Amino acid sequence: MSPSRQLWWLRNDLRCADNPALNAALARGPVLACFVISPAQWQAHDDAACKVDFWLRSLRELSRELAALNIPLKLIHCPLWADVPQALSAFCAEHNIAAVHSNAEYAVNERQRDQACAQALAKQGISWHAEHGNVLAAPGSVLTNSDTVFKVYSQFRKRLLAQWSLSGSPCPSPYPKAQAALTMSADAIPPTVNGFATPTAELQALWPAGTDAALARLRAFADSALLDYKTQRDLPALPGTSQLSPYLAAGVVSLRQCLYSAQMANDGQLADGNDGAVQWINELLWREFYLHILAGYPRVSRHRAFRPETELVAWRHAPEDLAAWQQGRTGIPIVDAAMRQLLATGWMHNRLRMVSAMFLTKNLLIDWRAGERWFMQHLIDGDLAANNGGWQWSASTGTDAAPYFRVFNPVSQSQRNDPDGHFIRHWLPELSSLDARSIHQPSSGLFGVDHYPAPIVDLSSSRQRAIAAFKNLPKAQEIA
Ligand SMILES: Cc1cc2nc3c(=O)[nH]c(=O)nc-3n(C[C@H](O)[C@H](O)[C@H](O)COP(=O)(O)OP(=O)(O)OC[C@H]3O[C@@H](n4cnc5c(N)ncnc54)[C@H](O)[C@@H]3O)c2cc1C
Repeated sequence: MSPSRQLWWLRNDLRCADNPALNAALARGPVLACFVISPAQWQAHDDAACKVDFWLRSLRELSRELAALNIPLKLIHCPLWADVPQALSAFCAEHNIAAVHSNAEYAVNERQRDQACAQALAKQGISWHAEHGNVLAAPGSVLTNSDTVFKVYSQFRKRLLAQWSLSGSPCPSPYPKAQAALTMSADAIPPTVNGFATPTAELQALWPAGTDAALARLRAFADSALLDYKTQRDLPALPGTSQLSPYLAAGVVSLRQCLYSAQMANDGQLADGNDGAVQWINELLWREFYLHILAGYPRVSRHRAFRPETELVAWRHAPEDLAAWQQGRTGIPIVDAAMRQLLATGWMHNRLRMVSAMFLTKNLLIDWRAGERWFMQHLIDGDLAANNGGWQWSASTGTDAAPYFRVFNPVSQSQRNDPDGHFIRHWLPELSSLDARSIHQPSSGLFGVDHYPAPIVDLSSSRQRAIAAFKNLPKAQEIA
């Protein structure tokens, strides 16, 4: 048996194309791939059942793709990450592995797991190699003049683009070549994992798994919607955004592949050219920004407010209001339609993520962590960095967040972004008979009709309450 066998440990990089960890492993010797099935850990992290199902379906597709490269995909069953170092060491001993390769993950638990694995493997003489395959630039490589991690997105973006103007922007790597066949078979990927229900067939059909599906989506978006993205991206009734987030979160497609595709459609430009392409590139850079924040400020992983003083906000304990928000029964149609979209599809339009998050944290004055958790438990694209970043932005507790006094009015957001009420009508059929004017805020006589509730909160006085709750907080440095 060859002593130079390499193990590629797959996590949120479920692809063969443009995968630095896979490329590094192939460069050093024959490769085996593994994925760790950790249901108890996933539950502790609030991973959604539809996301776990998407991972399993993606792994199945990937295993087929890997077979063509003669790389067997093995599974390691290890409910909690605390036990992974031992399980991985045993797996490596059994399969005579010389080195383990992976793409780094940046949250605290993931880093601790990897550190413990690297130490355990070192004792067996097995080397550990981490690449940065899921970001555009390694965290720590885009810093302020005083060598700190940027807290303001626009400054981060400017510095990153300036660095690329010198070094060139990142390009996807060539597709790997097949290795010589190994005498080992791949493990079967289970259809389900304990504790995670299989989602509906309708939900699964919205998110076909695998690289081919992801690349087809990327191509279709680049061909038909990218150039209009700036004008269409806020309209939830239209397919104006890429809907690539589940694929990016699971790493079925890489940020580099997306960036490259947008650049190609924009005559090679990143910051100039077509407005739609530039705007989409900026959204990809938001993803990158929050990953650098996650890596640079570990408190984000621990669900601490980025702005320490906002830990003192007196959030309301209002379980009934929280339940109404979760189930789409607040009496504010755009919020309810959004929340029902989430429950039915595992996804929510970005504009509505902001609207529903602001409604929860400002109008209902409920702690952003309750909303962050609910999103994570239901999103197929749930991703700690982006979800935490989005929630803390909306709650005005985060980096570069919305100022606390800028509170979206959900009714005006609805009138502006769903002017004909198509989106609301789709998700709230009980309101489908209302005209385009009254559907955003049915008059009181219409409440109760077909069981649609009256608003659970007055938008104007609750806005004032939220502003007051934030207004007199001490400055961060005043807190011991
Ligand atoms: C409260 C809240 C929670 C969120 N939770 C998540 C989450 O768990 N996972 C997640 O991937 N995104 C999250 N986002 C960001 C954003 O809403 C989604 O990435 C986007 O709606 C996905 O749709 P799309 O693929 O069509 O995006 P597109 O508009 O096509 O954008 C392309 C890609 O850029 C990235 N992106 C776009 N906007 C953002 C953003 N504001 N922050 C970070 N990345 C962005 C995503 O990877 C997205 O797939 C959240 C935003 C908010 C306000």
